[in-house]
Amino acid sequence: MPIELPPGTAAYSENTPPPSNRQLLTLLALFVMGIGIAIALTFWLAGALVWFIPTSVEQQLGRAMVPIYEAQAQPSATQNTLNQLLDRLEAHLPTEQRTGRDYQVLYVPDATVNALAIPGDRIIIHQGLLAEVVSENELMMVLGHELGHFANRDHLRALSRQVLLQLSLSGIVGDFGSIGAIATTSISALANAQFSQQQEQQADRIGLTLLNQTYGHAAGATDFFDRLSQEERPGLAILATHPPSQKRVRNLERLIKQQGYQVGEKTHLPPSLMP
Ligand SMILES: [Zn+2]
Repeated sequence: MPIELPPGTAAYSENTPPPSNRQLLTLLALFVMGIGIAIALTFWLAGALVWFIPTSVEQQLGRAMVPIYEAQAQPSATQNTLNQLLDRLEAHLPTEQRTGRDYQVLYVPDATVNALAIPGDRIIIHQGLLAEVVSENELMMVLGHELGHFANRDHLRALSRQVLLQLSLSGIVGDFGSIGAIATTSISALANAQFSQQQEQQADRIGLTLLNQTYGHAAGATDFFDRLSQEERPGLAILATHPPSQKRVRNLERLIKQQGYQVGEKTHLPPSLMP
C-alpha cells in the first residue's frame, strides 16, 4: 500500500538529504565548463586539421572547384596583366611556399567588390574590386594579402569542420569519392567566409613583405582598406569577408615603421587595368 505523504512533504528520507543549492551550482558550473572545453577543443582541432591535409588532396579539391570559377572568369588582357603582377610577387615567396604551386588569377567580370583565395592555387579577382583600386601598389597589396591566406592555409580553414575532417581522412585512406560534393559546399563556404582579425593581420604581414620586396618600398600598403573602410559602404562583400577596421591599417603602419620600410613613389595601374 503506498504511503501517503502529507501535503508539502518532499519524497525523500533522512538518509538521502537533498542536494544543497551550492552542490547544484557546482554541478552546473562543471557542466558548463565541460561544454566550453569541448567547444574550444573542436575549434582547436579544426584549426589544426588544415595542416594535416596533404597538398595532393588540396589540389584534388582544387581540380573540382577551379572549373566552376573558370566558367565565370574571362580570359582577357586584364587577366593576363593580373597574372604578370602576381608572378612578380610570387618570385619573392619563400621556396617552400612556391614548390609544387601554380598560383594564378581568375578574373571574374562582375560588380562584386571582392578577392579570394581558393583551393587549386587560384586567386579570384572580381571586376568590382579592380574598379576600386587606384595604384598598382595597392592592387599588389591585395594580391600579396591573398598569397598570405594561402601561406596560412586560410582558404582551407574557411571550410566546415566536417569537410576538413573528410579531407584529412581522405589523405590517409586515399578516398576522393566525395570530392565533387565537397567542392560544391566549399564554394559557398569560401564566398561567405569571415576571417578573424588575426588571420587578416597575418595575411597582411605577408602581403606587406612581398610588396616591399617587389618595389623596394611599402607605398600603397594601406590605401585600399583605408579608403574602403572610411567610405562606410557596409554592403561591400570584401568588407564582410575580410573584416576591415582602422586597427588593421594601424597595424600595417606600425609594421612599416618597425621594419624600417621606405615609402616611395606609387606606380600607376597598367593601362589594361584602367577602367
Ligand atoms: Zn583576407
